[in-house]
Amino acid sequence: MDSRFIHSIPSLRCNGKSENEKYSDDEERKSEYTFVSALSMNGGDGDNSYSTNSLLQRRVLSMTKPILVKNTKEMLTNLDFPKYIKVADLGCSSGQNTFLVMADIVNTINALCQECNQNRPEIDCCLNDLPCNDFNTTFKLITFFNQKLASEGSCFVSGVPGSFYSSLFPRKSLHFIHSNYSLHYLSKVPDGLEKNKMSVYITSSSPLSEYEAYLNQFQRDFTTFLRMRSEEMVSKGRMVLTLIGRNTIDDPLYRDCCHWSTLLSISLRDLVFEGIVSAAKVNSFSLPFYDPNEEEVKEIIRNEGSFQINDLETHVFDLAHCNEDCSLQTHRAKPGEKVANCIRALIETMLVAHFGDAFDIDTLFERYAHHVSQHTSCKNKTSVSLVVTLIRK
Ligand code: SAH
Repeated sequence: MDSRFIHSIPSLRCNGKSENEKYSDDEERKSEYTFVSALSMNGGDGDNSYSTNSLLQRRVLSMTKPILVKNTKEMLTNLDFPKYIKVADLGCSSGQNTFLVMADIVNTINALCQECNQNRPEIDCCLNDLPCNDFNTTFKLITFFNQKLASEGSCFVSGVPGSFYSSLFPRKSLHFIHSNYSLHYLSKVPDGLEKNKMSVYITSSSPLSEYEAYLNQFQRDFTTFLRMRSEEMVSKGRMVLTLIGRNTIDDPLYRDCCHWSTLLSISLRDLVFEGIVSAAKVNSFSLPFYDPNEEEVKEIIRNEGSFQINDLETHVFDLAHCNEDCSLQTHRAKPGEKVANCIRALIETMLVAHFGDAFDIDTLFERYAHHVSQHTSCKNKTSVSLVVTLIRK
């Protein structure tokens, strides 16, 4: 059913509805659940799993580590070394990455306490993702997490299933929030996108209205996110948020020719020409994703008003880098295959939800790998990682 990607979804709360949207009827609620499950990454630890193909995200985490450490220390001193600290990783997915982050935070807290002759706090590590996320794969890595901890201390891990566009925690309970590569996912595909376009996202030839629809949805979602977190955080609590963005200011439609979504559109068009999938099916698919620039992010934070911006940095995003770490790949990959696998791990569930179980996903990503290999020399990269750190006023 094509409408899966057209309905809204923001909330899976047990205790009420999100602020910006209300369920209208059972039909809509059903498609909301379908949509939410479609956003979750591939579970398990097989060749096409998120856990195996999240090397790019791991590189981003090591890049943002200095900002994470700095903000953890500042939070601790500004809050005067609380005896109990609650930390959350929002959009934790499955696999090691979330534990790498939690270990960095816990180790930083414990080391600073020792340095300053303070007692170590009890630390709650809350791992959040959508309910269909494969939390079990993550929980099985608890020994890996414990090995990463530099010293003994009281640390409690729990899972928090639910959408971060809804309320997830009690009021004023959180001291520190981290989120990596998750906030560019929207709560729904924007309304009012043009039909019959054969592209899954904004391209240089999209009408301006398409950009406006996407920006509008991002503004609503990110505002909801900030409002929810502002209620859940203690005053002077911190957030470190990293998301895919863009570094273009003048032309809001411009995306480079090797943008991951552009290559996805081209690969889907290949399948249409080969008769594997219908043009109508491709036309009705749009990504629930938005890549804001710094100005757009700043404006939303200012307008929402609960947080002060501490850092805002832009780093070049280069998918080709996930080629460099071959340690988790068991076979020799063809050119472009590893980049294709990174993207596949992110969007396979979404594609299957829209195109159906019988859809030839292997062929799609073979075409994708081929197009990646045609663009290896592209220098003009407009996709970036935006890192923003916020202090609850
Ligand atoms: N932070 C992890 C995972 C990034 S993948 C890492 O750095 O490796 C993005 C994750 O965001 C996915 O697991 C997806 O299920 C989750 N996600 C997307 N929308 C979400 C929402 N509204 N609420 C909670 N999680 C969401």
